[in-house]
Amino acid sequence: MESRRIEGLWDCSFCGQKGIRARFDHCEGCGSPRGADCIFYLPTDLQAATLSRDEAQKTSNAPDWYCDYCGSLNSADATVCRGCGSDKKEATKNYASLHASDEWLRQH
Ligand SMILES: [Zn+2]
Ligand SMILES: [Zn+2]
Repeated sequence: MESRRIEGLWDCSFCGQKGIRARFDHCEGCGSPRGADCIFYLPTDLQAATLSRDEAQKTSNAPDWYCDYCGSLNSADATVCRGCGSDKKEATKNYASLHASDEWLRQH
């Protein structure tokens, strides 16, 4: 079974704009950069947010991630933080796209 890749959303803490797509790292409303404290969440309209195969390939290749400890933005191919050297696996704010589990999809 093919795994679906859902594009996550984030809210701007500066102007309050909601539902900015994960592919944008700046707010569409005010242009503020996505902060290190930004949290991605799954959209309610999963159909619209499901990425095509091409798009999924792009996001899977380049989901930048934020270090939990020092807040550095690291590129996708970095396995440890360039700022403090902590492990990428420990980062929780790293996913520009989220995998929706089959169970989650059934419930929504
Ligand atoms: Zn904004
Ligand atoms: Zn770090």
